Amino acid sequence: MPRALITGITGQDGAYLSQFLLSKGYDVFGLIRRSSHRGIEDHRLRWLGIHDRVQLIDGDISDPSSLVRVVKEIRPDEVYNLAAQSFVASSWHQPILTANVTAVGVVNILEALRSEAPGARFYQASSSEMFGKAQENIQSETTPFYPRSPYAVAKLYGHWITINYRESFGIHASSGILFNHESPLRGIEFVTRKVTDGVARIKRGLSSELRLGNIDAKRDWGHARDYVEAMWIMLQQDTPDDYVIATGITTTVREMCRIAFEHVGLDMERYVEVDPKFYRPAEVDVLLGNAAKARKKLGWAPRTTLKEMIIEMVEADLERVKRAEARE
Ligand code: NDP
Ligand code: GDP
Repeated sequence: MPRALITGITGQDGAYLSQFLLSKGYDVFGLIRRSSHRGIEDHRLRWLGIHDRVQLIDGDISDPSSLVRVVKEIRPDEVYNLAAQSFVASSWHQPILTANVTAVGVVNILEALRSEAPGARFYQASSSEMFGKAQENIQSETTPFYPRSPYAVAKLYGHWITINYRESFGIHASSGILFNHESPLRGIEFVTRKVTDGVARIKRGLSSELRLGNIDAKRDWGHARDYVEAMWIMLQQDTPDDYVIATGITTTVREMCRIAFEHVGLDMERYVEVDPKFYRPAEVDVLLGNAAKARKKLGWAPRTTLKEMIIEMVEADLERVKRAEARE
């Protein structure tokens, strides 16, 4: 059986990727960092019912010695580097941690592979945030980057060091420039999940308003379940390369919100309050991706529409809220 190592296995994408790789017959191993919350870090894997089918190994992407130990122990065929301080807003509050984890973490894992498993195939989780103040209306692999947050600057380092290790050492390293992707397992601090959770609470009478920041921002939102498949397909190619993964449709936060409220029969205008507290020091106004290269070379295309995804997320949050109420 092929062996896959996933850093960031406890996150949204790590959970869906684990589920996908298990379905393909992989032995799945995941890096897990020490926490005082032992026992609940794997809640996303539990939600998917796969927590007892993956093996979790202690390590931290910012500790190179732990990565060497883990790679030596597992001898992976494929490594998916999904670990990151991934929340843009927090990257202004913790810029140095973001650099250490999201940027330097990438070279830490690449170095561990170079010395211990040079034949392993490597995936780097790059981000559309690297386009930032977008230099072209529709962004593709050839669009110049203009990062707008410490997170995006760190991701840019991760992207280029991945390309550099491919070109310098012949490592089979690919970088997926993924546009925003969401799901019921998205972190609650990201805007889609904040909205679907808020809608569920308002619907159940537990809350009376939803405070948001810049609701005119536009994002190209897809479903994480569709996007993790693209990661795997990239590593099955003879030649490593970089690919934009996107839906090709951009939508305002306001419209995404309207879909969520409308699904439960509520008028968003009555509940949404714009709060400047959630504005960012520098904003990425619009992202819109062109995934033509992935479509042509990888045969990849998104399957889930934004509306389908938001409805799935609202329904999941309604269930969560009801379960929590039943426990009280
Ligand atoms: P999450 O925030 O849900 O998951 C991040 C993961 O990284 C968690 O498992 C977290 O562990 C882990 N992690 C954080 N710091 C460390 C560390 N020091 N050592 C080891 N592990 C660590 O992100 P997503 O699943 O949404 O995203 C996956 C990757 O894709 C990230 O790199 C993200 O930046 C990138 N990306 C995501 C996009 C999206 O729209 N979702 C778009 C483009 C790129 P813990 O559970 O302990 O916190
Ligand atoms: P990002 O694209 O990785 O930063 O993903 P987010 O989901 O965090 O944010 C997407 C967009 O929604 C950004 O332009 C934010 O400024 C905007 N936004 C508006 N209100 C909020 C909010 O309350 N929380 C978050 N996270 N984003 C918000």
